[in-house]
Amino acid sequence: MLYVQKFGGSSLASSECVFNVAHRIAETYRKGNQVVVVLSAQGCTTNELIRKANEISASPSKREMDMLLATGEQQSVALMAMALHKLGLNAVSLTGSQMGLHSSSTHGAARIKRIDVDRIHSELDRNNIVIAAGFQGVNRLGDITTLGRGGSDTTAVALAAVLKADFCEIYTDVDGVYTADPHKVKTARKMDEICYDVMLELASLGAKVLATRSVELAKKYHVTLVVRSSMSACEGTIIKEATAVESTYVSGIAMDKNTASISVIGINNEPGMAYKLFSLLAKERIVVDIILQSIGRDATKDIAFTVMGNELEKAVKVLSENKSKLGFERITYDDKIVKLSVVGAGMATHPGVASMLFEALYAGGINIVMISTSEIKISVLIDERDADVAAHVVHDKFFSGSTAIDAHK
Ligand code: ADP
Ligand code: ASP
Ligand code: MG
Repeated sequence: MLYVQKFGGSSLASSECVFNVAHRIAETYRKGNQVVVVLSAQGCTTNELIRKANEISASPSKREMDMLLATGEQQSVALMAMALHKLGLNAVSLTGSQMGLHSSSTHGAARIKRIDVDRIHSELDRNNIVIAAGFQGVNRLGDITTLGRGGSDTTAVALAAVLKADFCEIYTDVDGVYTADPHKVKTARKMDEICYDVMLELASLGAKVLATRSVELAKKYHVTLVVRSSMSACEGTIIKEATAVESTYVSGIAMDKNTASISVIGINNEPGMAYKLFSLLAKERIVVDIILQSIGRDATKDIAFTVMGNELEKAVKVLSENKSKLGFERITYDDKIVKLSVVGAGMATHPGVASMLFEALYAGGINIVMISTSEIKISVLIDERDADVAAHVVHDKFFSGSTAIDAHK
């Protein structure tokens, strides 16, 4: 059997952790399996490298940033190969370029184009455990790229797809995918399984247990994933096409702190203004999420919308530079907000989910700033100071006590 096993930074934080992971890899290998391991940078290394870069420059070159960040994963794979050698096993570490992972050129958010697997196959044929650096690739110029935060998950799924692995296991610091972040909501429950679509929504709405792109790839290439703990033998959560609990109308909640709202006040109340405003943002590749337009009064109206928190500055700058063209009165913005979402595949056919959510927030004394809904999710924007209380009251509403979803079936 061929296994792809990915270990995240939290599972590799110290030399002791590295040996713990090495033992787990050894266990799989000694059973006669082929093993391709994907590793992240140790502990907080990536954040530490970003901090170091920002000490030098507030806006470092994206190419150089990738050059720097990729070193985190390179350290991990070399150390792991050494640890496995110490256990008497054959292992070889490979960078993104060495494993033939070719990507687009967008530094910091590169997309995988293809993986030339010859090198990996020849190492496996030599009975080597292959230790692949996650998160990195090489573009057509031969420059190092990175795949975006959490990108080692994407590397693991992509390798599992091209190698046609029998198993793709994502090892992390929690036992699996929970109904809410278990580090924030103590009553969160582990799910045995979850379908791609719901996991995709949870990931894109802030549940960082898996990178969104990795779930997209898993769905596209039919890779069944298991998320499990690197510290325990617990079964974990299976992520696959369809699950037995499909009818569950709420599967989990997610929170995204990287969000900010912008209000454009007193914009001319005439056709084409929304187009002008949002095309300016689109040209700058700024992703807009929730949009609200007020009913016009006299000759003007207001448009409020959200962007990712790290793009707020850029968005405000573009709009301010085009003030006369758009003809608005002023802009206000707020980055002290979070987006709380309730996600579930059966939501569209179960009325009352929105009112349960609003009731829970009301009972918690929490004000809603904006609301957005889709077939399988409802999101609300709230003040960041309310985030913890909101996560608890909303989770309790759907997952515990007499109002829990089971009781509503
Ligand atoms: P790794 O270093 O292994 O990549 P991450 O920190 O990227 O780990 O992801 C694991 C973390 O995701 C957990 O420690 C947990 O706090 C967080 N998380 C957020 N939402 C969820 C969820 N619904 N289920 C499990 N973990 C979650
Ligand atoms: N080290 C990278 C990050 O912190 C990639 C990963 O951990 O998956 O985002
Ligand atoms: Mg991660």
